[in-house]
Amino acid sequence: VAAAATAEERAFEAGLRPRTLAEFVGQRKAREQLSIMLAGARGRGRPPDHVLLSGPPGLGKTSLAMIIAQELAVPLRLTSGPAIERAGDLVAILTALAPGEVLFIDEIHRIARPAEELLYSAMEDFRVDVVLGKGPGATAIPLDVAPFTLVGATTRAGLLTGPMRDRFGFTAHLDFYDPDELVAVLARSARLLGVELTPEGATEVAGRSRGTPRIANRLLRRVRDYAEVRADGVVTLDVAHAALRVYDVDPLGLDRLDRAVLTALVKRFGGGPVGLTTLAVSVGEEPETVEDVAEPFLLRAGLLVRTSRGRVATPAAFTHLGFDPPDQELG
Ligand code: ADP
Repeated sequence: VAAAATAEERAFEAGLRPRTLAEFVGQRKAREQLSIMLAGARGRGRPPDHVLLSGPPGLGKTSLAMIIAQELAVPLRLTSGPAIERAGDLVAILTALAPGEVLFIDEIHRIARPAEELLYSAMEDFRVDVVLGKGPGATAIPLDVAPFTLVGATTRAGLLTGPMRDRFGFTAHLDFYDPDELVAVLARSARLLGVELTPEGATEVAGRSRGTPRIANRLLRRVRDYAEVRADGVVTLDVAHAALRVYDVDPLGLDRLDRAVLTALVKRFGGGPVGLTTLAVSVGEEPETVEDVAEPFLLRAGLLVRTSRGRVATPAAFTHLGFDPPDQELG
């Protein structure tokens, strides 16, 4: 999925990650709530409640997990739902945690069921029962787990099971960033990278960043290359504009998956309505990916609507892809 990071990009991103809540741009509400919660926990000298962060990729969930550990001055252990295939994988991680440590589980909704059930008791009572053997002879051995804080990330909180959701004391939903917030992200990144970026250049890049800091930083990299190779190194409006044209960056910031979904909807299904599963199959993705990764931004950009009969492309979607909108009523 295009908004996800490659290994090379992760290394680049590591240098741009905000290190403190104060450096973290936007998401004011979540930031304020977290800062109060962390201050309370620090005051009591105890780990804070478990934290669930939901929202599309690239909006800062991993960064926030790192900041939580940083602000609590405790170590951080990173893993992901798909990496925990068996209960034993989770037991190994949990029993190795240092007291107070932050455990970050990305894509927590994809954790295997037996491991998930173990996680419940670890979150609630800081212990896990390891079952040895099978059938009537099986014995459960309780193991203590050091008090820790779980930070779970998911593209949609609704994907979690009820018991899992109930065990998080604090939940924050991250939303797409406004253009002026993305300008602030870009200004900060440009400073760290030593790139000269004019306010107009930043506005141009921000407008094509799909409300997503990860994409803003990615575009800044492309624009910087262009400025250094084809101009005098300064990212002005003209330089940004020319660079983004060379790299075929969508004027609205749509990424590959967004465009694939919208193009299928418009060209293959005449604008819809079409069911989510059919639409997902036609672009070779899981329905969950289309729904959680592409749709939130398409909805927000006013290019797609959900109706009782399925997904429908708006007239703006037709125009954006260079087609004449059909004369039809939506809905
Ligand atoms: P997620 O875990 O939600 O996919 P990340 O935390 O990995 O997102 O964020 C991707 C990149 O975007 C980070 O490396 C960071 O540089 C940048 N970023 C995300 N959120 C912010 C923010 N609020 N302020 C500044 N930079 C951010």
